[in-house]
Amino acid sequence: MMKLSCKAMGADCGYEATGETAEEVKNKMMEHAKMEHKDMLDKMSDSEKKEMMAKMDEKMTVV
Ligand SMILES: [Zn+2]
Repeated sequence: MMKLSCKAMGADCGYEATGETAEEVKNKMMEHAKMEHKDMLDKMSDSEKKEMMAKMDEKMTVV
């Protein structure tokens, strides 16, 4: 199973996304971010979003 915490992404937030695949974890994290960190997402440019997606892969851990 894979895990990614919002904290690892630099947000002051206790959310952790888990899933069987990296894809699933990223989808869950994006859904969470759209609900809880919408203002942050709105401020990001497309290239910053791309960087964020790359960072998700980097910070994801196998549990
Ligand atoms: Zn969060």
